[in-house]
Amino acid sequence: MTKTLNGIAASDGIAVAPAYLLVEPDLSFTKKAIEDVGAEVLRFKKAITDSGAEVEAIRDVAKKTLGEEESQVFEAHLMILNDPEFTGAIETEIKNAKENAEVALDATAQNFIAIFEGMTDNPYMQERAADVRDVTKRVMAHLLGKQLPDPASIDHEVVVVAHDLTPSDTAQLNKKFVKGFVTDVGGRTAHSAIMARSLELPAVVGTETITTDVENGQLLVVDGLDGSAVILPSDAEVTKFEAKGAAFKKQKAEWRKLKDEPSTTADGKHFLIAANIGTPNDMTGVKDNGAEAVGLYRTEFLYMNSSDFPTEDDQFAAYKAVIEGMDGKPVVIRTMDIGGDKHLDYWDLPDEMNPFLGIRAIRLSLKNEAIFRTQLRALLRASAFGRLCIMFPMIGALGELRKAKQILKEEHEALSKQGVKIGKYEIGMMIEVPAAAILADQFAKEVDFFSIGTNDLIQYTMAADRGNDNVSYLYQPYNPSVLRLIKHTIDAAHAAGIWVGMCGEAAGDATMFPILLSMGLDEYSMSATSILRIRSEMKRIDTRDLAGLADKAVNESLTNADNEQLVADFMAKHSK
Ligand code: PEP
Ligand code: MG
Repeated sequence: MTKTLNGIAASDGIAVAPAYLLVEPDLSFTKKAIEDVGAEVLRFKKAITDSGAEVEAIRDVAKKTLGEEESQVFEAHLMILNDPEFTGAIETEIKNAKENAEVALDATAQNFIAIFEGMTDNPYMQERAADVRDVTKRVMAHLLGKQLPDPASIDHEVVVVAHDLTPSDTAQLNKKFVKGFVTDVGGRTAHSAIMARSLELPAVVGTETITTDVENGQLLVVDGLDGSAVILPSDAEVTKFEAKGAAFKKQKAEWRKLKDEPSTTADGKHFLIAANIGTPNDMTGVKDNGAEAVGLYRTEFLYMNSSDFPTEDDQFAAYKAVIEGMDGKPVVIRTMDIGGDKHLDYWDLPDEMNPFLGIRAIRLSLKNEAIFRTQLRALLRASAFGRLCIMFPMIGALGELRKAKQILKEEHEALSKQGVKIGKYEIGMMIEVPAAAILADQFAKEVDFFSIGTNDLIQYTMAADRGNDNVSYLYQPYNPSVLRLIKHTIDAAHAAGIWVGMCGEAAGDATMFPILLSMGLDEYSMSATSILRIRSEMKRIDTRDLAGLADKAVNESLTNADNEQLVADFMAKHSK
């Protein structure tokens, strides 16, 4: 039976493929006394053999589809499965305690994990704790007769279905086979949605029930244009969605003709359109979509995609690659924004009640100076290779900005003394905490530029978690309260003679765009895939028609919807 679920359109496009459930089964178990210990040991040995065969198969597919490096983790898993110290300890436990294999496996694994995690002076061994956890899960699943999802083993086209996808899950999706994804929870500006846009994967989030409604292998449509998912579509529906997907592709082909055109309005005014990136690999999208700058490089993905802190040299290589790749065009690199929904497996941070209000971004950097200084040195060294703008995230108080600048200055001086070549660079900050927007006139005296992060600015202004679909109705970019903060920031920047951009998702929003243009925003940085659509819209607007639009939006409109209407009326009347 066909079933349609409505959610939030998180990334444009249409995909039709069988569902692949990325959902962990329930691995809870009960304790049982065992009489036939020999048979229980055999049952355990079989679970080990089956797990080993499964890991070998996954490793082989991962090697082919993801590459040698990504498949290494499975070698580590095989080593544990073949390690007599580990398996022998479990067998002994079964024999001694006369308990079922699940209990022995769990108890022994906990011991091993505690020992590895205690090796605080040996980060390599500490990381083995994660491997033991993974292997234990797999063996447990075999003992309980359950199946674990294995995204690395996907070798045919699928639509991934998950309760939620973390940014690191998203990073591991193999675009060759994963054609789109649908989740129970999430918001348009959650990081997995942002990544889906840069991967050009159609995505719908916040459907609430997709993981229980669809079964593995059932045909599934993802409509990332209107935010719906259709389970077991009829042939007629498949044809309809395929036609919709084809029309969208055709529209994209039209936009693509603007790739090498300058970003100018109908009356010839130029405004910079830039791209947001997460890794140097995203540079292909930057080039293909004709970005005039990189307006936000989210460096935390460099940390998230590795199994330990990236070294200064690793970071230097990544930053240099992006800076050089832009051939002298500006590149805004933001210092790491870990915390909130972005975690590192290898960094044990305190559990917090409200991670988005907790130790995140610059707060974490200032508390962990050694890690921060390593990143700043890498940035300073990379500055010699092009036009670098260094940006600090989540600044809320002047003291934070001054401290960050002071540390940057110290590292600059130390490197200069060592004779390291450092280029010219600008220093800027994100405006994403309402306190900073309100005090923008003061902050503007201390930086070279601002970049407005609307994803967080909206979440903090409306007090609505950006990843929580229950409050996604409060993601209101055109709400006059949000627009007042934005306008105040732009006016303050211009009064102080500095440039101001926007790198939140609202910068690539077609309704927001005329309002921002009317406010005089200088730079618009967005997912690379939004660039050509906005460039096409820019060409249809004459800035002389914009007079008064921003004032109306902040002073006369009362709601988000009022401003949607305001822009629709404006475009209907003035669009060229
Ligand atoms: C923002 O908050 O708008 C932003 C660009 O930063 P991030 O999405 O990485 O939090
Ligand atoms: Mg942010």
